[in-house]
Amino acid sequence: MRDLENLFSVTPEDIRRILRDFHSEMQKGLAGSDSSLKMIPSFVDRPTGTETGRFIALDLGGTHFRVLIVELDGKGHPAVVASGLSVVEKAYMEGTADGLFDFLAARIDDLFAENGIDRSAHFDVAFTFSFPVDQTGVASGRLIQWTKGFTTRGVMGKDVVKLLTEALARKGLTGLRVAALANDTVGTLVEKSYTDKDCDIGVVLGTGTNACYVEKLSNISKWKGGSSTGRMIVNMEWGNFNRLKRNRYDIDLDHESPNPGHQYLEKMVSGMYLGEISRRVIRDLMESDFLFRGADGKNRFAGKGSFETERMSLIQSDGSKDLTTVEQFLRDLGIHRSTLCDRQWLKKVCDLVSTRAATVSAAAIAAVITWMDPDLASQHTVAVDGALFEKYPGFGDKMKAVLVDLLHENASQIKMELSKDGSGKGAAIIAAVAASAMPKR
Ligand code: ADP
Ligand code: MG
Repeated sequence: MRDLENLFSVTPEDIRRILRDFHSEMQKGLAGSDSSLKMIPSFVDRPTGTETGRFIALDLGGTHFRVLIVELDGKGHPAVVASGLSVVEKAYMEGTADGLFDFLAARIDDLFAENGIDRSAHFDVAFTFSFPVDQTGVASGRLIQWTKGFTTRGVMGKDVVKLLTEALARKGLTGLRVAALANDTVGTLVEKSYTDKDCDIGVVLGTGTNACYVEKLSNISKWKGGSSTGRMIVNMEWGNFNRLKRNRYDIDLDHESPNPGHQYLEKMVSGMYLGEISRRVIRDLMESDFLFRGADGKNRFAGKGSFETERMSLIQSDGSKDLTTVEQFLRDLGIHRSTLCDRQWLKKVCDLVSTRAATVSAAAIAAVITWMDPDLASQHTVAVDGALFEKYPGFGDKMKAVLVDLLHENASQIKMELSKDGSGKGAAIIAAVAASAMPKR
């Protein structure tokens, strides 16, 4: 146990080092030098709240594809008037560009059909594409690198708005104009800041993890253009932060991933990976005959990807003395006999892995806020989207505790708020702002 605790520990000194290293990587990224943080200018600033109209927001996050029709009333209340949700099948994640983008267009077409909307209806569209993109304009950008298990061929280096626009045309959705390309973190920040002017950082903790924040243009030394407000939201792509103390499980998981050498922070923190890290620990404990001694069905933890982060949530939510939910979970897996000690170990492993994730993500948030405001002189609302933050028991509380340990009373300047559907609604707001600068149709 002590060995495992050491492997997954993040000490106060580690946290301070994460802050220092984040600041140095942020600086380099903003200057356009080599850095694990790409610090991508988003071409947008926070909205005014007066935007109006109906917009389509598309959200390709990693696990799901969402299509939303969003109505903005100009009074700070984006309303979702219709929506569709589909799982992105492995065939699309690992297939061809046309396959993936035709799938997206078909889902829009479905939503139109369900709601009696004509295929040729005119809408401005916001495309939330949450992968590292070299943004070249408010509605253009090239994919730099697939993450979160995607390997779709023919997209790397291409303008994803162009690929989407071509697919919309193939489907006959000729009235749709892609007005904005956004990242889910940017959408999340924009949506919250619509009603909360203290919101200056957006974080996603879902399949993957990433963040954006509001930066002074004068700090983005690689940025050549202007901006009317003197500020711009910067998409950090923090999932790729690589100055982290990794253990043997992190290293093995990375080697066997489709993107080795990339996304070290994401692989330590996000929903796509926490279950898999835990599974590797459990498998080792079983191989050394420490867990489930003599039980049947032991091979249930042998298959890569067979233990999902959702299962960790379930296990950690079991507050019963005998861990009966965990017992049932194991029975369902085919492990019919487990001791209380086995079950406690299983819960402990989930706790170690998820606590490290919460600690590292809180440290990353503290790094961004202290970069913007070293003395914490102002209030900061952190808008957080993603099922990991929303659903993992105690995840947000652990993050908060790390902030308090690190920043003491100044931690009260930081408020973390769940932003449900924020990335989609925010994208619609971005489309509204962008469309207002485009030719009328
Ligand atoms: P995306 O990041 O693709 O936009 P979500 O925010 O819905 O989507 O996050 C989905 C991911 O969140 C899943 O892949 C899973 O890893 C994780 N997740 C979903 N439900 C839970 C849960 N109950 N507990 C912990 N993690 C969860
Ligand atoms: Mg999402």
